[in-house]
Amino acid sequence: MLNHANSLKAYDEAKKVIPGGVDSPVRAFLSVGGTPPFIAEGKGAYITDIDGNKYLDFVQSWGPLIFGHCDKTIERAVIKAVKKGLSFGAPTCVETRLAAKIRQIFPYVERLRFVSSGTEAVMSAIRLARGHTQKDDIVKFKGCYHGHSDSLLVQAGSGATTFGSPSSPGVPEDIVKHTLLAVYNDLASVEKCFEESENIACVLLEPIAGNMGLVPANEEFLQGLRDLCTKHKAVLIFDEVMSGFRASLRGAQGFTKVKPDMVTFGKVIGGGMPVGAFGGRGEIMSKLSPEGPVYQAGTLSGNPVAMSAGLASLKSIQKDYKLYDKLTLLAKMLTEGLKTAADEHKIPLQVCVRGSMFGFFFNDKKVKNFDDALKSDTKRFAAFHRGMLERGFYFACSQFETGFVCAAMNEKMIKKTIKAAREVFKELSK
Ligand SMILES: *Cc1c(COP(=O)(O)O)cnc(C)c1O
Repeated sequence: MLNHANSLKAYDEAKKVIPGGVDSPVRAFLSVGGTPPFIAEGKGAYITDIDGNKYLDFVQSWGPLIFGHCDKTIERAVIKAVKKGLSFGAPTCVETRLAAKIRQIFPYVERLRFVSSGTEAVMSAIRLARGHTQKDDIVKFKGCYHGHSDSLLVQAGSGATTFGSPSSPGVPEDIVKHTLLAVYNDLASVEKCFEESENIACVLLEPIAGNMGLVPANEEFLQGLRDLCTKHKAVLIFDEVMSGFRASLRGAQGFTKVKPDMVTFGKVIGGGMPVGAFGGRGEIMSKLSPEGPVYQAGTLSGNPVAMSAGLASLKSIQKDYKLYDKLTLLAKMLTEGLKTAADEHKIPLQVCVRGSMFGFFFNDKKVKNFDDALKSDTKRFAAFHRGMLERGFYFACSQFETGFVCAAMNEKMIKKTIKAAREVFKELSK
């Protein structure tokens, strides 16, 4: 057994001053049992906890670290920026450079604005979509997570799923009544929303859902949403906070021809620092203050340290034209290995890969939406998670999260992971 004495102590101390001992609920490991290791440091593909246990890290800060921990290029860029001042609350050139870089990669994004988190990005995108269309209702999908802002904390997947609280106390009914819920990969459910309401400002979704486990949208569904939005003059918003620069260089655009009107980013575009962004068609973006009437602001938005980390990250991504092929190969090797090992022990497992994102459900049927995902065997997942952690493999601590490989990983590490998983599956099948 690994020794967790220091982490246990740190957890008790943390709980005295921070609710649940954590600053974001999933970190508390409640859905898998046990207590979270407190992390001392990371290097490349690995993290080490305060008891000195080392883990191969398939969480990578929940997505941002596509190059792994302490990537030298990002580190250098951050230190260089830090020495010039942490924040000015005034325009800096690095913001323009990062915006231009994103636009170069996502040509349908004519202009964008930076914020400090994915939550803020989506919240602001919705305000702009509402301001632009002068309509109030939004369509969101069960199991998609878009951050914790009021309108979006309805059947929100991720941590909200794990804790069985589909919405949250503190979110007024009066606000949520403008959020219409539809079923992922089910166009008829969206058509129904448009029949029920003529007041729909936007349809918001993760084009590659990563917060109910990994569940991609199919092409007809996306095209159907595009057509519906065009017909009803609603804004189609792709939330690519997770999939952007993760699923492929162009996020979901690597898998679909459908273009949204707006998109939100986060995670990878900050290279590990707090950055989010929302952008899209110029006509919509020009409604944003100070050019237009829709207000949105942020004291630390676009601060030069975070921007420098993001820019360094995107530059490295662009330079390595084989990056996503390599990451896809690793992710496929991992999931195929897990699947084979599970089959050997007659454990039903559904696996999925999109670039550097991977998912696996303990489920005997293919998962196309949230209700399918909920039929997964979460007890078995919890046991798998504990078994892997004990062997030095750090997986996301919920059945409803996506895993990530990073550029600091190699085939040897994946082979070791599969070997450990085989042992764990053997225990599970007893
Ligand atoms: C993580 C995530 C968010 C929220 O981003 P935060 O930076 O945690 O606020 C929003 N949308 C999606 C798709 C995400 O994966």
